[in-house]
Amino acid sequence: MDIMKKGWFSEIHEELLPGQAFSMRVKKVLHEEKSQYQDIKIIETTDYGRALILDGIIQCTLRDEFSYQEMISFLPLCAHPNPEKVLIVGGGDGGVAREVTKHPAVKEVHQVEIDDRVVELSKKYLPEMACGFDHPKLHLTIGDGFEYMKNHENEFDVIITDSSDPIGPAVGLFEESYYSLMKAALKPGGIVCSQGNSYWCELDFCKSLLENCRKHFPATAYSFITTPSYTCGNIGFAIGCLDPDRELSEPLHVFTKAEIDEMKLRYYTSEIHRASFVLPRFVEKTLYES
Ligand code: SAM
Repeated sequence: MDIMKKGWFSEIHEELLPGQAFSMRVKKVLHEEKSQYQDIKIIETTDYGRALILDGIIQCTLRDEFSYQEMISFLPLCAHPNPEKVLIVGGGDGGVAREVTKHPAVKEVHQVEIDDRVVELSKKYLPEMACGFDHPKLHLTIGDGFEYMKNHENEFDVIITDSSDPIGPAVGLFEESYYSLMKAALKPGGIVCSQGNSYWCELDFCKSLLENCRKHFPATAYSFITTPSYTCGNIGFAIGCLDPDRELSEPLHVFTKAEIDEMKLRYYTSEIHRASFVLPRFVEKTLYES
């Protein structure tokens, strides 16, 4: 549920975010509709720029989206020796496509997004992210990522799941069977990276997601970023690799600061790559030792 009251938008979801709310002051509601899959809202805020909201949950704001989009893309791409063919699942705002297509090793990017209305509205209201859809390397399919995965085997070097939270159409993208399908869709040595919630809000969920990943991938790790408009200001990624010897926290592609600036990366660096895997003790204990 979200609440629009006295010029403020509040993200309130008792199941995902019990007993708390994050609010942004609203300048203008730009668009509201109910698509076949979800409630879509695009608002102009006073301090976070434009924001995309699905089923009452903030998906991205122009102020901080780059931290998430860069890291969910560059962490797996830089941990793979040659990430030529990439699949993005979800990502209807286009921000992950924008980042993936920047990596010099990437030759072909496929994306499967369930809701064409998110894509169309992002193109209209969020061109800073939706510009990702214009890249010649990008091939977009409208459909369910879970079903798509069943029809692809031994095809991708990297699969990035940029899904909404585990409610509505995204539920299946967090299940163990999805990890089994992703494993089959990968080439040898392939890597998966999925939106993995916040350890402050849902540590048990992060743990069960990483366990699902571990059942199918011999090398796994959890990494996190700070991002003020997401749950508790922090969101993580569950990463798995088919090569048991791969050290996911060590980038195989190291870019100079000049190259980072040229790619217009504002959050990702090789140092941030390594640091994002260093977890607070209570998280490390829960995810790796219990
Ligand atoms: N970065 C955001 C976050 O962490 O909240 C996610 C952004 S992106 C807008 C999420 C997208 O996942 C949405 O556009 C939604 O339509 C899409 N999605 C949800 N379930 C899906 C599924 N089963 N297959 C493909 N796309 C799906």
